[in-house]
Amino acid sequence: MSNKLQNIKAVKQMLDGTHKFQTKKTHGFSDTEHAAKQNQKREIGDTWEEKIGNTIYIIEQKNGFRVKKPKNSVSEEVREYLNSYPKCKKDCCKTSYNHLDEKMRIIHGMCYDCVIEMEHELQKQGKFKEYEKKKITENAISWLNRAEQDVEMLKKAYTESQQIVTNSDGLIETWNAKMSPEEFENTIQLQFDNFKKKFLDNINKKENND
Ligand SMILES: [Zn+2]
Repeated sequence: MSNKLQNIKAVKQMLDGTHKFQTKKTHGFSDTEHAAKQNQKREIGDTWEEKIGNTIYIIEQKNGFRVKKPKNSVSEEVREYLNSYPKCKKDCCKTSYNHLDEKMRIIHGMCYDCVIEMEHELQKQGKFKEYEKKKITENAISWLNRAEQDVEMLKKAYTESQQIVTNSDGLIETWNAKMSPEEFENTIQLQFDNFKKKFLDNINKKENND
């Protein structure tokens, strides 16, 4: 592949957030060590672990190729917990769950029936409106937090000049920053901060109104 094509590929990957420059931090060891590990000569039947992104893989050397599968054992317990319904009522006797339960499990940690029962209980106690308002606020705040992270990422991508390796010979090219930190601050950041202020004002208004 020519240098030019390599660059286009790198740009695409950077925009996707998949370029090795952006994902590098998640590696447990440096790239050199990583490469050395990959190039190490293995015998057929050898198995070893490699961290790729945030996942640990078990790699097995077969005759002429390698098989890669995620190492599950560590997270087995975590997964079991994540698939459970820890906040179900003590007398909940549900044993089979559908997509509604699944949806409620993620939000409330309990099955659909228990959520209905809980909300009914809150209604009886006259606390339902308060609960609903709290839920809406929580959703809005977590959305805002994600948006803030996006702006942070955008800032990095726009204002930092970066060095990228463009070919297998290790030729390094420098990526010029799209705008200065000041320019970013005065345009995108300013717009976002204004938006954020309005957004939070709106939430506060909603909370105080009714
Ligand atoms: Zn339940």
